[in-house]
Amino acid sequence: MKKLTVKDVDLKGKKVIVRCDFNVPLDDSLNITDDMRIRAAMPTIKYILEQEPSKLILMSHLGRPKGEVVEKMRLTPVANRLEEILGEKVLKLDDCVGEAVKEAIDKSSERIVLLENLRFHKEETNNDPEFAKQLASLADIYVNDAFGTAHRAHASTAGITQYLTSVAGLLLEKEINYLGGAVTNPEKPFVVILGGAKVSDKITLIENLLKKADTILIGGGMAYTFLKALGKNIGDSLLEEDKIGTAKSLLEKARGSGVDIILTEDCLVVKDFNDPSTKQIVTDIPDGWQGVDIGPKTIQMFKDALSKAKTVVWNGPVGVFEIDDYANGTKEIAEYLATLKDAITIVGGGDSAAAVKKFKVEDAMTHISTGGGASLEFLEGKQLPGIAALTDA
Ligand code: ADP
Ligand code: MG
Repeated sequence: MKKLTVKDVDLKGKKVIVRCDFNVPLDDSLNITDDMRIRAAMPTIKYILEQEPSKLILMSHLGRPKGEVVEKMRLTPVANRLEEILGEKVLKLDDCVGEAVKEAIDKSSERIVLLENLRFHKEETNNDPEFAKQLASLADIYVNDAFGTAHRAHASTAGITQYLTSVAGLLLEKEINYLGGAVTNPEKPFVVILGGAKVSDKITLIENLLKKADTILIGGGMAYTFLKALGKNIGDSLLEEDKIGTAKSLLEKARGSGVDIILTEDCLVVKDFNDPSTKQIVTDIPDGWQGVDIGPKTIQMFKDALSKAKTVVWNGPVGVFEIDDYANGTKEIAEYLATLKDAITIVGGGDSAAAVKKFKVEDAMTHISTGGGASLEFLEGKQLPGIAALTDA
C-alpha cells in the first residue's frame, strides 16, 4: 500500500511533529561518537523547514532507559549537534509530554523544538493510547522518519497515527523505496550477498529471498553450517548443529526454484582465533582450524556473480571484518560493489553498514539502510507497524 509522504501534505503554518531516530552512540563524557543518524534526518528536517511550519517538533528515543529518567540518556547532546548542523537555536525540553511541554512550545520564539527521550516514559514502548494522544496533542501533523524503530509498534511510531494525519519522512520513504523495491520488484538479475555469524538469524530472510533472487552468495560464519550440510569438513568453524537440517532444506528449495546458491569454496582459517599469524587459505578445513573469512577463489566467484547484477542486497559481512587480518573478503566485496555503476546496491544490517563505512565506500552505494532489525524484517517480507500505520496515499 502506498503511503502519504511529507511531500504530499501542506505544512505551511502547521505544527509538525517528527519521529526521528536520534539513537546515537555516546561516550562517557556524553560526546556523540557517530552522528550518522542525525545527519540522515537532515533531508527531512530541512525540507520541512523550507515549507515554513509554525513549529518543527522533533522526538526520539536514546538507549534503553526502561521507563525511567536516566541522566546519561538525555537528548541534550543531540540538541547541541542539531544546532551545530542547522546553525539555528533548538529549544530542548526536559520532558516529552504534559502541560509544561505544551506551554513551552507555544511560548517559545524558536522554530525547532526537541522533546526529551521518549523512553523515559514506559508508555512509549507499551504503545499506551493516552500517552500517544498526549504526543499527538502537541502538533497538527505527524511525520515518521525513524526507520530504525519502524518494526516496533510504540506510541511514537504507531499509537500517535490514530490522532493525526501521518506521513513518511524522506528517509523513511527512501528505505521503503529501496528495501521494499528490492523485495517486491527487483530489477534482475537480483543478487543477494549473505553473511554474518548465524544461520538462525537469517532463515526467514533466506526463505523470502528465495522467492525473488536469482543468485544468493553465502559467506561469513553462517556458511559453515551450509557446508556441513553438504558433508564438507569445517573443522572448528562456527556451526549451528541444530540448523544443519534447515540448511539442507534451504539448499533443496533453492534448487527447486532455480535460485543459484554460491557457497564459500575456500576460506581463510586460523588455528588460534587470537593469533592471526597462523592464518592460511584452505578448501578443506582440518580439525582444530576455524574459518574467519572467504578465500581468494570465493572472492572471485562472488565478484563474477555480482558483475551481472542489476540489483544487489548485502546483509552480513563475509568474514570477521572487525579484525583487520580477517577483513580482506569483506573489504574486497565492499570495494567491488562500489565499482558497479549500473546496479542498485543496497546494504542492510548494522554490521554490514559498519563494514561499508570502515572501507570508505559509503558514498558509492545506492542505499545504506539506517535500520538494523527493521531492515532485516523488511527484507523478510514482514509488514512494519510503523509503516503500516501511516495514512494511505
Ligand atoms: P548485520 O548486522 O549486517 O546483519 P550480522 O549481525 O548478521 O550482520 O553479522 C555480523 C557479524 O558476523 C560480525 O560481527 C562478524 O564478525 C561475524 N562474522 C562474519 N564472518 C564470521 C566467521 N567466519 N566467523 C565468525 N563470525 C563471523
Ligand atoms: Mg548485526
